[in-house]
Amino acid sequence: MNQTANEVFDVAIIGAGPVGMAAAFYVASRGLKPVLIDVLDSLGGQCSTLYPEKMIYDIASQPGCTGLELIQKLTEQLNQIDHELRLGTSISKLEREGDIWSLHTTEDEEIKTKVIIIAVGKGAFEPRKLGKPGEDLKGVFYTVKKLDVFANKKLLIVGGGDSAMDWCLSLKDKAASLTQIHRSDQYRAHGGSINQVKEASEKGQLTMSPFWEIKEIRGLEGEVREVTIYHNKTKEEKVLAVDNVIISAGFLTNLGEIQNWGLEIENQKIIVDPSNGFATNLPNVFSIGDIAHFEGKVELIITGFGEAATAAYFSYKAIHGDIKGAAWCAKLPVVASAK
Ligand SMILES: Cc1cc2nc3c(=O)[nH]c(=O)nc-3n(C[C@H](O)[C@H](O)[C@H](O)COP(=O)(O)OP(=O)(O)OC[C@H]3O[C@@H](n4cnc5c(N)ncnc54)[C@H](O)[C@@H]3O)c2cc1C
Repeated sequence: MNQTANEVFDVAIIGAGPVGMAAAFYVASRGLKPVLIDVLDSLGGQCSTLYPEKMIYDIASQPGCTGLELIQKLTEQLNQIDHELRLGTSISKLEREGDIWSLHTTEDEEIKTKVIIIAVGKGAFEPRKLGKPGEDLKGVFYTVKKLDVFANKKLLIVGGGDSAMDWCLSLKDKAASLTQIHRSDQYRAHGGSINQVKEASEKGQLTMSPFWEIKEIRGLEGEVREVTIYHNKTKEEKVLAVDNVIISAGFLTNLGEIQNWGLEIENQKIIVDPSNGFATNLPNVFSIGDIAHFEGKVELIITGFGEAATAAYFSYKAIHGDIKGAAWCAKLPVVASAK
C-alpha cells in the first residue's frame, strides 16, 4: 500500500473504467491527489473487459480506435500525472468522521479521502444467460475478446442490441458463415448499425433472421456442433451446423455493497445533481459515468469524460471552498507514483 498510515487523499475514485480513469487525470490536473480503485485487476472497465477489439467511432478526436486502444491512451495520459492505483480492491463500507471519508476494503484496509467520485459503471457485471440446453458447451461465448478466435468459424450470433450488431459487423468478413437471430424484428441497436447489418444480409455476407430463437445447442465431446433454432410465430424449426454461438442478451449487474452506503438509488442508478458537479445526496460524494443518473442523461464514454472533468472541478471546490485556484494545472507532466 502506498498510502502512509495517516495519509488522506484528496479524491478517491471508485471504478477504473474509462470514466474513472479520466476523472483521475482531471483531478490530478487540478493539483489534487487521486487514488483510483477497482475491484478488477486491470484498468478499463467495459472497454477492456467486454469489447477490447471492437471499434469505437464516437469519441471526438478519435476517428476510430478499439476498446483496448482507448484504454491504452487513457493509461498513457494517466501516467503523466501523480496518482495512486489500487486494483483488485473492493470497498465494502464508507464511514465519515468530520470532513474525512474512510473507505473500508474487504481486506480490512482503510483508505482515507476528502472527496469520493463513484464511477462504477453498471456495477459488477455478468452476462445474462438464456437458460437453453447446451449453453454450457465449449464454443458458447457471451463476450468477444479476440476477433481471431472466430476466424473461419461457422457462427451464430444471438441478440438484437448494440453488441450483437457490432459483433456481426466486426465478424462478417472473418467468419466462414454468420447467422444472426433475434426474437423479434425490433432491434435495440443504433440505427446506423442495424442498417449496415441489413445491407450485409442483402448482399449475402451474413443471414439476418428476425423472430428466430435458440431451442437447443448440441455438441460432440463437449464442443458445440449444431443448434436447433425455431421461428417463434410459425414454430418452424431448423438445424444449423455451427462452431460457435455468441449470445448477446445483455448483462446482469450487481451494485453489491454500494446499495448499503446511504446513496439515493433508483433502478440501479445513483441519482446525481448535474447543476452541482454530479453531487450525490452524501456530502462530498460525486458520481459519474454509466452509474450516475439525471434527467437528460446520455450514456456514452464521451459524455462520461465531460462529467469527469466537471466532477474534478467541483471536487476542488469541495476541498478548497471556492474554485479560484482550480484553474488548469500547468504542472503537467509530473512523475506518476502508480504501482
Ligand atoms: C459491447 C459494447 C459496446 C459499446 N460501444 C460503445 C461505443 O462505441 N461508444 C460509447 O461511447 N460507448 C460504448 N459502450 C458503452 C461504454 O462502454 C460505457 O458507457 C462506458 O464503459 C462507461 O464507463 P464507466 O467508466 O462509467 O463504467 P465501466 O466501463 O463499466 O467501468 C466501471 C468500473 O468500475 C468497477 N467496479 C464496479 N463495481 C465496483 C466496486 N464495487 N468497487 C470497485 N470497482 C467497481 C468495474 O470493475 C469497472 O472496471 C459500449 C458498451 C458495450 C457493452
